[in-house]
Amino acid sequence: MQLGEKIVFVNEGESQPCPICAGAGGYFGALDFAISGNDAFIGARTYPDTGIMVQYFRCGACGLIFTPSFNSFTAEDFKAFIYNDTYLAADPPFVEERPERDSQMIDVLLGNFRNSLRMLDYGGGTGLLARKLRAKGFTDVKSYDPFYQPDTVADSVAPADIVFSFEVVEHIPDQLAMLDDIMPRMKPDGVFIFSTQLQPADIVSQGINWWYIMPRNGHISLHSSASLACLFRKKGLMWRTLTQDLHMAWYDGSRVAGRILSDTVALEKAGTFRNPLPPT
Ligand SMILES: [Zn+2]
Repeated sequence: MQLGEKIVFVNEGESQPCPICAGAGGYFGALDFAISGNDAFIGARTYPDTGIMVQYFRCGACGLIFTPSFNSFTAEDFKAFIYNDTYLAADPPFVEERPERDSQMIDVLLGNFRNSLRMLDYGGGTGLLARKLRAKGFTDVKSYDPFYQPDTVADSVAPADIVFSFEVVEHIPDQLAMLDDIMPRMKPDGVFIFSTQLQPADIVSQGINWWYIMPRNGHISLHSSASLACLFRKKGLMWRTLTQDLHMAWYDGSRVAGRILSDTVALEKAGTFRNPLPPT
């Protein structure tokens, strides 16, 4: 099956239901499927146009930007068209740079727990981040990724004290189902730490050209503060933004959350490891 036959096209004049709050999503714009994150960093196009447009909508209630264009994709389709042999060109830091930076950030933020708490990297790609953390003395850190290491699912069964997930949330269409998959892997007393860029204050004027909207990278769900708040409220979780693109969620009363939030020195230091933005 060709990409053009799998991409869903909807009427731009009809609102689409927000996958998080069911509010009305108004048409926000469309981009060629080939637009990638790397384009913003190198200041040039990475892939030629496909002529296949991916439509994005923005919820009028919670602000979530989402696309229904991949609604008919199966896991196999995501592997064939997005997470395929040419994916790395869309996101070169995926291989080494981001796992290295994230491992340094976790070392600063969670280093006090390296011998005492079980950790899981959910959506951890090839498992490099977990390997780097083990090299830094983290004794119980596992990695699970349905696309890159489907055979690691058993490693993620015993719930972890800390589940982290970097550059994952924005790739997942059904955010509520995502939490249904993640939360059983976290102890009730634990925390979920994840990265995703939040929409800037001037998102309406930036519109569809906001750099983080990148169909070729599989960016499907782009959050606002309000959409994250709605998501976690629905699942009975508390949450907080730690840095511009790093966030944390937990169940009320979590002692692990309390210990992390009380270490203001580590929190401040961790903020210096945030993901880079493209040149302006
Ligand atoms: Zn919404």
